[in-house]
Amino acid sequence: MINNGEIERIQINVTRSSLPPYEEFIEMIKPIWDSRWLTNMGDFHSALEEALKDYLDVAELSLMVNGHMALELAIQAYGFPVGSEIITTPFTFISTTHAIVRNGLQPVFCDVKPIDGTMDPAQLEKLITPQTVAILPVHVYGNVCDVESIQEIADRHGLKVIYDAAHVFGVTHNGKGIGSYGDCSMFSFHATKVYHTIEGGAVASSDRELYEKLYNLKNFGIRGEELVTDIGANAKMNEFCAVMGLCNLRHIGEAMESRKQIYARYEQVIAGINGLVHLTDPAQQSRNFAYYPILVTEEYPCDRDALYERFADAGIHVRKYFYPLTADAACFGNRYAEAELPIARDLAGRVLTLPIFEGMTEEEFDRVATVLEREARS
Ligand SMILES: *Cc1c(COP(=O)(O)O)cnc(C)c1O
Repeated sequence: MINNGEIERIQINVTRSSLPPYEEFIEMIKPIWDSRWLTNMGDFHSALEEALKDYLDVAELSLMVNGHMALELAIQAYGFPVGSEIITTPFTFISTTHAIVRNGLQPVFCDVKPIDGTMDPAQLEKLITPQTVAILPVHVYGNVCDVESIQEIADRHGLKVIYDAAHVFGVTHNGKGIGSYGDCSMFSFHATKVYHTIEGGAVASSDRELYEKLYNLKNFGIRGEELVTDIGANAKMNEFCAVMGLCNLRHIGEAMESRKQIYARYEQVIAGINGLVHLTDPAQQSRNFAYYPILVTEEYPCDRDALYERFADAGIHVRKYFYPLTADAACFGNRYAEAELPIARDLAGRVLTLPIFEGMTEEEFDRVATVLEREARS
């Protein structure tokens, strides 16, 4: 668009939802007009559960209306006594902490590792008390947690391990689907994620009993026409979302390949700039290219907040994911102000998540890189 002789810039956001070809989606939803089965565990719901079990390499998978309810119901399914403690990290989306608190349980915040922002197992054990029932680590940005150390500690203390795996769709670890670690894992299929069903989520596990419990909990706790056995919620995925999921799954390879190209270009640009660090362990084997988080260190000429403003000036909406820490959210007042979280606080003050999405153009990428490079020279 030309405006007063100037090129009007089009806003670049941190992400942009992938969509399948329109005709393909329309063709796939046609059977719904014959069956009139719109929700309540229909054929597309079953088909997507099967397809995702296969793709994610997990034994059991229960689809949900969104990732948050998946996590909330996964926690509820274990029936922990009210007031029990769950050890988690604050360097995440608010959903992780809310899922604990909304179950009437206490979050206990563990610090994270400076290299990738995931739970630091070295800080974990000292937080365990007689009230601790579970550990809830987050594979933040697609960075895989130290699943071996966490499991070893959990086993020694008889604790459940529930992963927030919202960011690791399609990632593997030692040749196994990441969702097969721990007692269960929550995935999010929100429109902004690498893979989506518009809104949606799932709980993956190798536990058939958990699958059945969740089937019940996501449908009000109804067991039979005249029998309600649990205080459940309504967290069922509808058939239109399930079709979007089946359709997007056909194209997930292309979506990740497109992101991989952008990711590789960021790696090059960041390597050439003093003071910017990619927040990930470079040794990690499997990636889904979901996010590109950087840390703005003291060697860079300006701080994170100033760089955020430079991006805004250039029409680019980057995000301070994850700032503030969930432990510091206004809704909790200063309840968790005493938590010892020096690394998480440092990362939250330095992190900036850069735009990366399927189909990001060279021109869009160059506009982002230009801001990083121009500031580096100033
Ligand atoms: C997206 C996300 C959630 C919540 O998932 P929804 O599908 O949006 O409800 C939870 N945790 C993390 C880390 C997320 O990024």
